[in-house]
Order: sequence, then structure tokens, then C-alpha cells
Amino acid sequence: MLPCSSGSPKNPMGRVIAVANQKGGVGKTTTAINLAASFAAAEVNTLLVDCDPQSNATSGLGFPKDPDRISSYHLLMGAATAEEALLTTELEQLWLIPAHKNLIGANIELVDAEGREFRMREALAPVRDRFQFVVLDCPPALDLLTLNALVAADAVLIPMQGEYFALEGISELLDTIERIRAALNPPLGIEGVVLTMFDDRTNLAQQVMRELKNYFGEKLCTTTIPRNIRLAEAPSHGMAALVYDPRSKGAESYIRLAKEIIERQLPAISSQPPVGTTEISTTLPASGQAEDTGEHRTDTAVEELPAAADEMDKTA
Ligand code: ATP
Ligand code: MG
Repeated sequence: MLPCSSGSPKNPMGRVIAVANQKGGVGKTTTAINLAASFAAAEVNTLLVDCDPQSNATSGLGFPKDPDRISSYHLLMGAATAEEALLTTELEQLWLIPAHKNLIGANIELVDAEGREFRMREALAPVRDRFQFVVLDCPPALDLLTLNALVAADAVLIPMQGEYFALEGISELLDTIERIRAALNPPLGIEGVVLTMFDDRTNLAQQVMRELKNYFGEKLCTTTIPRNIRLAEAPSHGMAALVYDPRSKGAESYIRLAKEIIERQLPAISSQPPVGTTEISTTLPASGQAEDTGEHRTDTAVEELPAAADEMDKTA
């Protein structure tokens, strides 16, 4: 039995967030690990699921490669349950379902399988209500693994590097989200777009930020993630940044992002805020950015995005 199920408030959210962008190296795994760790640090039971054969989220939390360990591959193949795959981590309220490079095989082995897009959703269903957030780290491809994550998810968080070509390929991702919503997972929303490795001192960064704000509107997260060496170092020590160096700008920015996302969910759980939310909001340093009003929509206005993406492509 999962230890977190005892003594914790009845899960009011159980929100599944897929961290996805088919562009490589934009900060998906860094975001998935540190956002999940920040949720856990806010005393919110959180599950991180490594859906990428590169297994960077797994190694980034300090788990060495182990082909015999039950992993997301076994979940997709129906060879093990999520309960069997759960690993505890250094953070009391963070659990991990690891990956191994054998996950590449699932892409091929599942090609003709019945209900192949629903494997992750079905595998997570029995454990999902024990967590307030389930964060899925996707590979840099719009393949069957990402598809499984998007079908399992309530919403997608899109990390984007604040650079000139940030929007390149984004219409493909938004089209994919739209198609999944139409055919496989109607409630799928966009949790937000988060700027990573962002240096707000440059004119270019400011310009990119403005363009993305015009393009994504409220979906652009108020919190941006700076380029920060601690974020790059932490995984080689097998730690989330807030464990490795809790005072670093990188750790603080992900704590702010977690707070922003938790606050977006609060209206839905007004009578029962997650334990620790108050603490996180009072101890955080001022972001220097516009205050989050908590009035963000979660799933509305998403419909306009693919059309907007097409427009952007034409003008790019
Ligand atoms: P992939 O597409 O291969 O899965 P990804 O989108 O998951 O990549 P990451 O692995 O998170 O991207 O980041 C790519 C590289 O950039 C890593 O070496 C990571 O440590 C570094 N990195 C990510 N975010 C930051 C940041 N904010 N500051 C400094 N380095 C960062
Ligand atoms: Mg990654």
C-alpha cells in the first residue's frame, strides 16, 4: 500500500500534467523534475512519471539504470501495475515511476496493439486519486509515448526556450493536442506555456516574451525560469534543485511555478486548499513580475491556439 494514502486529505485534484514539446532540449525534464519536487515540497502528494526512454527524469532523481526494475515500459505493455512501479524518493511526498531505455521498444511493440493510446491512462487510473498532481515527462517526439501521455493527461505544460525560434514547431504540437482532444481525450487542456532558460535582461528575450504573450495570452505562465547553473548541476547529483540548492534562483523559480499552477487550481477546490499552499505563498520571495491573480482559466481559450499558431507560422 502506498504510504501517502494514509493521513493525507482526500485528493481534491488528481491533476495529470504532461510536460511536452517535441523540440529537444527545451527544459522538459528539468521542468518535470523540479515542478514535481516543488509540488511535493508544498506538501502536495505528487507522482512523477518518466515517459522518455532517455530516462533523464529517473537518473535526475538519483536512480541508476536498471533494466530489471519495473518501469513505465512495463506499464505500457500491461506487464506490471503502477502500484508495483512506484518508487519513493528523497522527498517525502514525491514518488517516481521510472523509465529505462527499453521504453523505445514500446513504440514498436504497441504499434498494432488494441487501445495502444490508452495504455498509460489505464495504468495510472488505479493510483491517480492518491496524488494531487501527476507529472509526466515526455520524450522530444510526437510519438506513441507522447501520445499516451497526452491521452492520460488533463492538461499539457509546454516548456519553451525564450529564443527567436521558440515558436518553431509549436503549431505541430498544438495541432496534435487538438487532434487528441477531438478523438481521444476531449477534456485535454493547456496548463500553460513556461519560458525556460530565460534571460530577461536582453532585448531579444523581452521581445520574445511579448510575442509569446500576444500569442498565448493567459496561457503564458507569469513565472519564467532563468538560465541557472544549479538547475543544470542538480541532476548529476541525483537531486531536484530545491534539494541540491534550495536558495538558488532556479529552485526558487520552480517553486514559484508550482505555486502559480496550484493557485490556478484553487477555485476548483475552494473549500479544501492543498496542505502547504499557504506556507509556500508566504515564504516565497517576490517574483518581480506581475502578481498572479489566481483568475487564470484552465481549459478555456485553448481552442483559439491552433488557429493562432497557423497565423504565426505564416508571419514567421
Ligand atoms: P529532451 O528533449 O532531450 O528530453 P528536455 O527538453 O527534457 O530535453 P532538459 O533535459 O530539461 O531538456 O534540458 C536540456 C539541458 O539544458 C540539460 O543539460 C539541462 O540541465 C539544461 N537546462 C535546462 N533548463 C535549464 C536552466 N533553466 N538553466 C540552465 N540549464 C538548464
Ligand atoms: Mg527530457
